[in-house]
Amino acid sequence: MTQLTKPQIQQSAQLIEQSQRLVIVTHLSPDGDAMGSALGMSHWLRQMGKTQVQVIVPNPFPDFLHWMPGTDEVLDYEGNSQQANQYLQQADLIICTDFNEPKRIGCLGEQILNLSHTPKMMIDHHLQPMDFATVTISDPNSPSASELVYHLIMAIKEHLHFTQDLNMETATCLYTGMMTDTGNFSFNSNHAQMYDIIAHLVRIGIDKDAIYNQVFNAYSADRMRLMGYCLYQKMRIFPAYHTAFIFLDSKELKKFHFRSGDAEGIVNLPLQIKNIYYSCFMREDKVGPADAALAGGSEIKIKISLRSQGDRPVNLLAHDIFNGGGHKNAAGGEYYGPLPEAAQKFIEAYPNYFTQK
Ligand code: 5GP
Ligand code: MN
Repeated sequence: MTQLTKPQIQQSAQLIEQSQRLVIVTHLSPDGDAMGSALGMSHWLRQMGKTQVQVIVPNPFPDFLHWMPGTDEVLDYEGNSQQANQYLQQADLIICTDFNEPKRIGCLGEQILNLSHTPKMMIDHHLQPMDFATVTISDPNSPSASELVYHLIMAIKEHLHFTQDLNMETATCLYTGMMTDTGNFSFNSNHAQMYDIIAHLVRIGIDKDAIYNQVFNAYSADRMRLMGYCLYQKMRIFPAYHTAFIFLDSKELKKFHFRSGDAEGIVNLPLQIKNIYYSCFMREDKVGPADAALAGGSEIKIKISLRSQGDRPVNLLAHDIFNGGGHKNAAGGEYYGPLPEAAQKFIEAYPNYFTQK
């Protein structure tokens, strides 16, 4: 159960009260929890009377999150770095949500570290948070950063005697993050506290069924066919280790008119097979301006996603082999080099990290 400390609440409340120009940043390839925690925070800050709140994402977020309230005003660093830098330089508070180290926001990370005099808050649920913020609110046991933002908001509200309830925009965004980071409450979801929060958000008036449909029933036909192709043609099964493995090169992606976000969820599909407890999905990607510094000259980036069920951690393999990380049952990383090399690395590594049970 998330329990914020008094100093965390006091310091956060003070930082927010003192600031006029706030910037919220979240991680590369933003997912539902990244957008939910960042946008949820921004809506609430506006409710608190802050008129200058800017959300900045390192690179674009997927189409299936464009319906979320406030996305029109989100600035994508890759396409608007000058404007984004201006916001950052003028900011008197930078709030970082859903990531634990500056590396996770690509070259934005360096910009933020350079602004050493600007106070920063980190609200995150990944293991081993780096100590770069003025206030660090980190709970790796929390299923989502959005849930942590909810706890922080409620605590600050009480601390400042702010009696107005969360508005619909805040509630909708926070719910979206809670829902997506738990696979619609199908993993990391045995926390009674989470359902108390959901009850509160539903009372505020969110339409949780509509949110589900907007996120999970909004695929393009191309993406649906890509999914079919993955399962029919590409899925390899390693039965001894209860493992499934799918990888896609750029030619295959092009054939299905791949767009950002189309791969979301494909990694989870093999877990529907009886006795498959581990799943790995890889796809080829291009190195963009946001992560060029990490690429070491390679133009190709392989994005790796790992999922598992139960007490079978995948974040160790993500960390050791693919310079990544994440949670026990959902982790990822990147490999800067050709796809066959990345695939080979996984095939060599998985028996050392996965179990035959
Ligand atoms: P996904 O497979 O959906 O891209 O990522 C699942 C989870 O793995 C994310 O929530 C994040 O915690 C973690 N993750 C994904 N990619 C990376 C990465 O490149 N580095 C780190 N440190 N974590 C990652
Ligand atoms: Mn998250």
